[in-house]
Amino acid sequence: MQSNSPNKRVALYARVSTEEQREGQTIDSQIAELERFAKNNDWEVAGVFQDNGWSGGMLARPGLDRLRDEASKGIFSAVLINDVDRLARDVAHLGVIKRDLERHQLQVIFRKLPMEESPTHNLMVNILGSFAEFERELIIDRTRRGRRHKVEVRKEFLGCIAPYGFHYTPKDHAAGKEGILAINPDEAAVVKQVYRWVGEEGLSARQVVVRLNQTGIQPRKRHAKWAKSTILRLLRSEVYAGVWHYNKFESYEPADQKSEIKYRRSAKSSLRKRPRSEWLPLELPEHLRIIRRNQWERVQRQLDDNITFSPRNAKHTYLLKGLVRCGGCTARYVGQPCHGRFYYRCIERCKRIPTINENALDSTVWNTVEEAILNPHLIADQMTKLKQLEAKNSSTAENESAEVDRSMAQLQSEESRLLEAYRLAVISPAQLGQELEKIKARRAAIETRKVDLTSHSPKFSFPAVRNSIFTYCAVLSQRLKTMTVEDRQRFLRLLVVEIIFSGSTVRVRGVIPVSNSEGATNLETETQNVGETAVGNIATMTARLRGRNHASKGEVSFLDFKEHGYNVPQTPLLEFELVREVKKDSTVANQARRGNLLKANAAKARYLTPRSRMRRCGKHPHKPR
Ligand SMILES: [Zn+2]
Repeated sequence: MQSNSPNKRVALYARVSTEEQREGQTIDSQIAELERFAKNNDWEVAGVFQDNGWSGGMLARPGLDRLRDEASKGIFSAVLINDVDRLARDVAHLGVIKRDLERHQLQVIFRKLPMEESPTHNLMVNILGSFAEFERELIIDRTRRGRRHKVEVRKEFLGCIAPYGFHYTPKDHAAGKEGILAINPDEAAVVKQVYRWVGEEGLSARQVVVRLNQTGIQPRKRHAKWAKSTILRLLRSEVYAGVWHYNKFESYEPADQKSEIKYRRSAKSSLRKRPRSEWLPLELPEHLRIIRRNQWERVQRQLDDNITFSPRNAKHTYLLKGLVRCGGCTARYVGQPCHGRFYYRCIERCKRIPTINENALDSTVWNTVEEAILNPHLIADQMTKLKQLEAKNSSTAENESAEVDRSMAQLQSEESRLLEAYRLAVISPAQLGQELEKIKARRAAIETRKVDLTSHSPKFSFPAVRNSIFTYCAVLSQRLKTMTVEDRQRFLRLLVVEIIFSGSTVRVRGVIPVSNSEGATNLETETQNVGETAVGNIATMTARLRGRNHASKGEVSFLDFKEHGYNVPQTPLLEFELVREVKKDSTVANQARRGNLLKANAAKARYLTPRSRMRRCGKHPHKPR
């Protein structure tokens, strides 16, 4: 037989898995066995290929791949392997490898099988291959149950990479010593420190990272930087409070391998968390607790709060929400957050007026309003508009009194017709009485209307109006400094009709309640010291509101002038308009940031397909820009 020829050159292939290594099998003993067998048969060993610590379930093994590469070169004519399970623990893989080797005219010899080439032999190899595969599944199952048993029944920590703060000494098979979990004093000190920072100082995970990196404390992997995810895992792990969880994660085969690693010892290279119900808790002995239970729980609450109150998760308050309009297309300007900063932009994205930093617009508008309140003549000087208002009011009053006169005349003629009907005996005296009663009531109504009209038609006394503006502004200026953002927002919503932003300038259109001379007759004892032409409505309001502001818990503020008689038609609102230049942030950093933004936008624009360009243009969706 060819196989027994003395000059046969053989390659040796040996493999042990990590489990087998743990059980005391070594690759060297396997190779020694193969070498002895080759020597007994008088074969020459032309190469040794080995996979140390590789599972038979993996097809891609470095030693096996080299063997298959060399197979085509004709250096050896046979491959000597200890047993079928050494080659593969997967029947399909076994068939692939064996056929591939035989394709290169190589004989595959298993030391534990009789050396022959027959259908029976092939069947035997396949049967043994199936057994090897079955055995592999048994091993996996046995290992899994063994590990579970150790945690569930024997209540022991399973040897693994110990969590940060701990140190694990693996089981020593030779000495018969069990694995030991112990506290790593250096790492435990860092854990305690981090818990204190969060629990007592209220630091966020991000701030912890910054502080750790600043203090030069290194993570377990030297020369690396701390990451937020590491800190969060450390803060969330119950192992520090004395409960370790088994079965927390499961390995799985990722759908797409991101890295280009050729050889993996396991196909299931990714980890994912199992549902909490599947975790197996294990109480650690008292001396392994790094953090007290109540401290750990406080930190958990703190972390939950950090999520709840994170500015990222809170809705941002835009001071000018709903008030700003685009100077280009008159559409609204809306808030636009971008990488932690806030901007206002045209809702139509008309691109005629740029986006503006929230702070720049807010401060310009607020300063404008504040300036006007502190210098009321800015508003008072705009009374020409009030004159127009007066003209309009008086013309409507004239119209109304003419109408009253007309209805009076109509009533008169109705009455005379009624009397005529009675005289001609068309109606009875009783009917006449009824009808006259009705006419009497209507006349009374018209007459009260006439009285109303003459007494309430607004006639402005300009010094009085001017005074009312100054009084109102004086009251407001008292409170300007102490206003919160919400106060300011409510205040602007009352005072400002609209803000037109046109890039470099901003036009603030507002209204201010004024009192006319007629109002002065309503003057009551609560009049404040506002001079002889004091204005009733404003005086009344300030007195009333002062009381309110002290008593109420802020739900009604002095700002609600509309709620205090100022939105009734009799109370005129003086319109005013202020135009100011928008002061943009012009620090070097901001310019640099703007420059970067422009570059980024330009780069983005280059990659936009015409279709997506079209989608971005709100005004002309049919026309690509
Ligand atoms: Zn616009």
